[in-house]
Amino acid sequence: MKKLNNYNIDELRSIIDNLDEQIISFIISRNEISYEIIKIKRNSKHDVFDKSRENQILNILNEKFRTKISINEIKDLYNVILKYSKYSHTMLDCPNKPQSARDILCFKPYVIAGPCTVESDDQMNKTISQLSDLGIKIIRGGTFKPRTSPDSFQGLESEGINLLRKYADKYDMFVVSEFLDEEQLALHYDSIDIIQIGSRNMMNFSFLKKVGKKTATDNKPVILKRGYGSTINEFIQAGRYITQSGNENVILCLRGIRTFEQIDSEMRNTPDLAGILELKDKTDLNVIFDPSHASGNSKYVIDLSKAALSLGADGVMIETHHDPENALVDGFQSITPKTLRELINFINTK
Ligand code: PEP
Ligand code: MN
Repeated sequence: MKKLNNYNIDELRSIIDNLDEQIISFIISRNEISYEIIKIKRNSKHDVFDKSRENQILNILNEKFRTKISINEIKDLYNVILKYSKYSHTMLDCPNKPQSARDILCFKPYVIAGPCTVESDDQMNKTISQLSDLGIKIIRGGTFKPRTSPDSFQGLESEGINLLRKYADKYDMFVVSEFLDEEQLALHYDSIDIIQIGSRNMMNFSFLKKVGKKTATDNKPVILKRGYGSTINEFIQAGRYITQSGNENVILCLRGIRTFEQIDSEMRNTPDLAGILELKDKTDLNVIFDPSHASGNSKYVIDLSKAALSLGADGVMIETHHDPENALVDGFQSITPKTLRELINFINTK
């Protein structure tokens, strides 16, 4: 090869183009190998996240190239490469249009919206048609409600599941709903596209395993909500119960935690926004934020959603009702589809 200073600019550019192609194809190969390692770790029940291995990689490169490139430059490059490698496999086999609920994980950020609780045909008709006008593709709605008091409305149960399915099919949407136990899961599994496990069930390890095993058969996504009294590490470990049962399509949902804020603030919980950063750092799972339960106050929902997406959340799940004042459950933290439009515009102009 000639000395570099004997090439003209076009020749040098063509060498660069060639090298860039190699860099990208090396990164792609690196990611494919790293995904195999993730699978081996999951099968052998090891943590996916391994900071000491990342440090080892940087040290090896530093030893080898220290006279040509500084350790800080290597770190900057690898921050990007390692971050990309953690998430890139979730983008493998992504179609142009979502065909299954699993595919929606490809189209980020995703907005999940719908009422806290399915109440009636009329409510679903009004709320879901307005959400469809906004371009919402994933609706939520509780039908088996984990209410604090046994005297409160417990949800429409099977009738609610049927209404969810009816309106999701009518508007070509996917549907999220919570199951509280194995019986509900078995009975209504086929009607729901994304299974939700609620905050109160985050530590129900035997249920987590059962949901993991069942959803492993068709890779149906599972939204796991953070226990309102759980640490981030407990939350990550709960997610591992599902991934280790065979389904990697787990979506971790931060939904606020209980701290001192509740004594005299206007919020029902303390919005655990910073958890987005830590979960993104420590896991390779999707992370979403639920500003409705996190704040318990409709006036904070849009700003918290914007903050969550700015921090890197893969999506948000927002309680939306056509008439919040008359909602049977959680109306005070529900917004209208009209208000939700502000967030959609924010996302579209980003
Ligand atoms: C819900 O999203 O419907 C719900 C009950 O939330 P959480 O489990 O976070 O309280
Ligand atoms: Mn609710």
